[in-house]
Amino acid sequence: MLPKVQSPTSRRMITLEVRRTDRTSPTFSTVTLGGPELEHLLPTGFDQAVRLFLPRAGQTGLTMPTLSNEAWMAQVLLLPKSRRPWVRNYTIRRVRPELGEVDIEFALHGPTPACSWVLGARPGDQAGIFDMGRTYLPPPDAEAQLLVADESAVPAVLAILENAPDSLAAEVFLEVPETADIRKDVVAPAGVRVHWLARDGSAEVPGRLALDAVKDAALPPGLSYTWAAGESGLATGVRRHLVRDRGVAKADIAFFGYWRHGRSSPG
Ligand SMILES: Cc1cc2nc3c(=O)[nH]c(=O)nc-3n(C[C@H](O)[C@H](O)[C@H](O)COP(=O)(O)OP(=O)(O)OC[C@H]3O[C@@H](n4cnc5c(N)ncnc54)[C@H](O)[C@@H]3O)c2cc1C
Repeated sequence: MLPKVQSPTSRRMITLEVRRTDRTSPTFSTVTLGGPELEHLLPTGFDQAVRLFLPRAGQTGLTMPTLSNEAWMAQVLLLPKSRRPWVRNYTIRRVRPELGEVDIEFALHGPTPACSWVLGARPGDQAGIFDMGRTYLPPPDAEAQLLVADESAVPAVLAILENAPDSLAAEVFLEVPETADIRKDVVAPAGVRVHWLARDGSAEVPGRLALDAVKDAALPPGLSYTWAAGESGLATGVRRHLVRDRGVAKADIAFFGYWRHGRSSPG
């Protein structure tokens, strides 16, 4: 059975500041966070994710939990709303330890807590991170892989591909809102084929195009590991299809609902 998550061996709450923001395409904005506390992050690469703490509108600063164990959440919930931060999950897209910087790529999707914060973020604004580890954990002998994501997990897949060994052979399906969100500069081993899918105004729930593309695709011969993440219906739909229609063993599929259509993240 594949492990679901590789948890960090040591971690602590880290408070950083916005250094800059970069709107890279209609949907994506990269926020660079930095500061001396970043030395406490042990970068693992791949899809390493963090809890991201953001101040709510109207708060004068960020209140971070002080506990770096599982009790942090109770500590946050006990804070009065006037001081309680928003807590969301995001991927560490890149780390530059020598500069004390991390990049997080946000897929913008509406006037939500995270997206509103990104659009208003200015250098010097505070944000906090807490390492949650990584979930892309292929067995060392995985011959061919399938990676599937909507825009929320595009940063994770791009980081996975950048960290992958040269021997990786994979079919990759990435769904984004617009053709203009498609990246021309994907860094990946030669045996990786990336298929971009753009909704371009269709009213489909994110993830449907990627799921349909996987259903229509010829899967790589010797498929031995699948990683799928994005809207919950995409993640569960890919798993259901592979198991029911393609005879893939459940144990060879890692799938993660990064968000749920019509539901806010708790926190
Ligand atoms: C491990 C992990 C890593 C993640 N990494 C990233 C990342 O690097 N970049 C990234 O952009 N997201 C990432 N996500 C997804 C992100 O945490 C969610 O999209 C989150 O809900 C965004 O918070 P919010 O405040 O914008 O919206 P919420 O307050 O949580 O939700 C408000 C409304 O927006 C909808 N919504 C939420 N997310 C999306 C979306 N992506 N597209 C369309 N509608 C949405 C909800 O259904 C709800 O109706 C990750 C999630 C996980 C679990």
